[in-house]
Amino acid sequence: MDKISVIVPCYCEEEAIPIFYQEMEKVQKNMQEVVFEYLFVNDGSTDRTLGVLKALAQKDKKVSYLSFSRNFGKEAAMYAGMEHASGDYIVIMDVDLQDPPSLLPQMYHLMKEEGYDCVASRRVNRAGEAKIRSFFARCFYKLINHISKTEIVDGARDFRMMTRQMTESILRLCEYNRFSKGIFSWVGFETKWLAYENVKRSAGETKWSFWKLFKYSIDGIVAFSTAPLAMASLIGLVFCLLSVVGIIVTIIRQLVWGVSAYGWSSMVCILLLVGGVQLFCMGILGQYLSKTYMEVKHRPIYIVKEQRLQDDVRPADKEAEDEN
Ligand code: UDP
Ligand code: MG
Repeated sequence: MDKISVIVPCYCEEEAIPIFYQEMEKVQKNMQEVVFEYLFVNDGSTDRTLGVLKALAQKDKKVSYLSFSRNFGKEAAMYAGMEHASGDYIVIMDVDLQDPPSLLPQMYHLMKEEGYDCVASRRVNRAGEAKIRSFFARCFYKLINHISKTEIVDGARDFRMMTRQMTESILRLCEYNRFSKGIFSWVGFETKWLAYENVKRSAGETKWSFWKLFKYSIDGIVAFSTAPLAMASLIGLVFCLLSVVGIIVTIIRQLVWGVSAYGWSSMVCILLLVGGVQLFCMGILGQYLSKTYMEVKHRPIYIVKEQRLQDDVRPADKEAEDEN
């Protein structure tokens, strides 16, 4: 029998977890040919998420959990989940039911019968999302696909089912600044895309503020493209050429008309422009440098404070379960 490990990052999701669990149990009833493992990752929640997970793990031995010492972000939670998952197939899912569990049978079928290494999902619309957020998301995908060789599909979710082999390959990319949408694509393998309509959150609120998303998009660009660095050099070159033209014009003007020393306000404008462009280019350089700095420190991606995995059910717990 195949085993499917479902990795579920949770950050302050006490309300959403029971709803998610119920939905998953329904789907699981229609998939008798496989066994499931739910691996919840509590990403340093400040509400009762861990308590809810503990209660669930007591009740159902398919439920395992990892609990971080603080909030490390969804990327870290996914990585930790993949490291600890024991299934033949690995699924990553949000707990808010925005990733419909009803797609799981189809995903499994496509992997098993048609031999795909990965079945990933993408939403075809962004209904229910703020217009401004959708606009910037679209701009980001256009930009990154223009400047990066790694294809990043617009609307792609982290919701996907992968083979063990593909998961192992992803784990080999142990970088600190993780941008999974790029990593999934970078490792290759044959991926089938399933499209679905955007679904609203079951409970709770999104954890992604506009600022968080903006920083995440910078992470993505820095991780998968060096085009901004090339752009900085190009801007430098263009400014050099412009200045050569300026020098020639000034010399001719001095020689022919004897007037080269006027234009105080234009001088100030040019100084400000050049200063601004220099700072901008230094900022780009700074972004790459800061990411490199974080990488060379080799800090762990996450720290687990508490865990309960299927394999480490303690003998005392087992006896208690047997008695029941
Ligand atoms: N999440 C997490 N750590 C974080 C932020 C989010 O583990 O720092 C989890 C969250 O609990 C949820 C998933 O990542 O299961 C997606 O988060 P959310 O629904 O807030 O994002 P959205 O769907 O709005 O992009
Ligand atoms: Mg969500």
